[in-house]
Amino acid sequence: MAEILVFDNFEMTIIRSARRKTAAIKVDLDGASVRVPQDLSASRIRELVAEKTHWIEQKLAVAEQKRRDLALQNQRNAALGNGSLIPVQGRDLVLELHQTVAVAIAENAGKLVLQAPRDLLGDADQLRALIEQWLFRLAVQELNFCINVYKQKVGVMPTAVQIKDYRARWGSCKPDGSVQLNWRLIHAPMHIMDYVVIHELCHLLEMNHSKRFWLEVQRVDPQYRVNRKWLKDNGWRLTL
Ligand SMILES: [Zn+2]
Repeated sequence: MAEILVFDNFEMTIIRSARRKTAAIKVDLDGASVRVPQDLSASRIRELVAEKTHWIEQKLAVAEQKRRDLALQNQRNAALGNGSLIPVQGRDLVLELHQTVAVAIAENAGKLVLQAPRDLLGDADQLRALIEQWLFRLAVQELNFCINVYKQKVGVMPTAVQIKDYRARWGSCKPDGSVQLNWRLIHAPMHIMDYVVIHELCHLLEMNHSKRFWLEVQRVDPQYRVNRKWLKDNGWRLTL
């Protein structure tokens, strides 16, 4: 059985190892644990952990929030159907399903109305694919619109704009002057999409993250620090 030390606000799992020379604390979605050398005494471990109490509690709070968000997201994913909320440009569209012979999908007064044959309506994967297709087309429109607005403000002319399906990035740009953007930005509030577009366009002026680069970003998006942090904190959530 795992050895557990109880502290004021949390419990810590002790993992002993003959090969370890030093102690290492870890906090993740499963909780807090510390890996220690085989013979380290419990009182010494208590001392080590006590020094890091503040850091551990902060990390645990973040992990707890993430766990709750993930549970919520899983619930939402599993139950994609009538009444599901589809995040689109900072709003939540309510999914409304109707049984018909032909497939059609359209936004109408805060709703995303999807019409399809019965077998399709009962298939969550196909439903998701349909909705993502619609979102992708909207993303292409909106991102191109954004590029047109901000290329003038930044003062650059991208050679090409590609809207892609990335798992781990929001945008990129290449030395050939082309800009790539993640279609999932359509899930984010508009000013976040703006920020990413501005960020990538500014790379056409400065191919780095130097002070000069950030000054260019700030010139067009004075709120860029807040937007950047929002994306860092919430970006992983931007999916259906
Ligand atoms: Zn960058």
